[in-house]
Amino acid sequence: MRKKIVAGNWKMNKTMAEAQALASEVMGMISSEVNSSAIVVLCVPFPYLPVIKYQLGKSVVKVGAQNCSEYDSGAYTGEVSALMLKSMEIPYVILGHSERRQYFGEDGKLLAKKIDKALAAQLTPIFCCGEPLEIREAGTHEKLVKQQVEEALFHLPAEAAQKIVIAYEPVWAIGTGKTATSQQAQEMHAVIRKHLASKYSSEVASSISILYGGSVKADNAKELFSCPDVDGGLVGGASLKSREFVDIAKAMG
Ligand code: PEP
Repeated sequence: MRKKIVAGNWKMNKTMAEAQALASEVMGMISSEVNSSAIVVLCVPFPYLPVIKYQLGKSVVKVGAQNCSEYDSGAYTGEVSALMLKSMEIPYVILGHSERRQYFGEDGKLLAKKIDKALAAQLTPIFCCGEPLEIREAGTHEKLVKQQVEEALFHLPAEAAQKIVIAYEPVWAIGTGKTATSQQAQEMHAVIRKHLASKYSSEVASSISILYGGSVKADNAKELFSCPDVDGGLVGGASLKSREFVDIAKAMG
C-alpha cells in the first residue's frame, strides 16, 4: 500500500521565532485532531532544520528540506549536501520544484544527480514535475511531464524508484489560487503512474506515492485527495497558516 502524505513547503518564509511558533501549532493540532495514517511533513528553510526537528521530537510530524546539492562536499559556497541532511537525520527533501527549475536553471540532468545523492544518503526525495501554462494550453503537458519523470528518475533501478515520492505540480496552479480540477489532477496522476508502469511494472508504479501540488486549500483538498491516483498534497502558501494546513491534513481522512 502506498503512503498518504501531506507535505508543507514553507519556501523562503518566516523568521526563526515565527517558524518555531508555526511548527508548534501544527504539531499540537495534528496530535489532537488528526487520527489518520497519513504522513505529515514540514519542508522548512535550511537554517531552521535542526531546531524544528528537535522541536518536533517524536511527533508524527516530520521535517524535510527544500533542496540539496548534486555534490557530496567541497568548495560549493552556499550549498547543502544530502550527506549533511543525513547527518542531521532529515528524512525528506524536495527536489525539482518549479521555482528551482525556473529561477535556478535546474534541469532533468542535474535533478537526476540530486536524486542519486538524496537516495544514497537514505533521504526520501519528493520529486516535483509539472507543466507551465503555455504547455498546458498547447496540449503537450502529458509529453512534458513524462519527459521530466524520465529525465530525473528512469535511470533508477526499480528498487530505488520505489523510494521516490512524486509531486505533480502544474506551474500555472502554484501560488496562483488557480487549482487544477480534481479531474485534471487525476488524469495527470494516472498518466504518470502509467508511465512508471511502462518503465518498471504496475506493482512498482502502484507503490509510488504521487502528491498533487498547486493552490491546495482546506476547501478543495478533500475532493483532490479523493481521486484514486492522488496520494496527498504538496502545499505551499496554505502551509504557512497552521489552521489551514492542519485542515488540509485532516482532508486525507
Ligand atoms: C508549491 O510551491 O509547492 C505549491 C504547491 O505552492 P502553492 O500551494 O502555494 O500553490
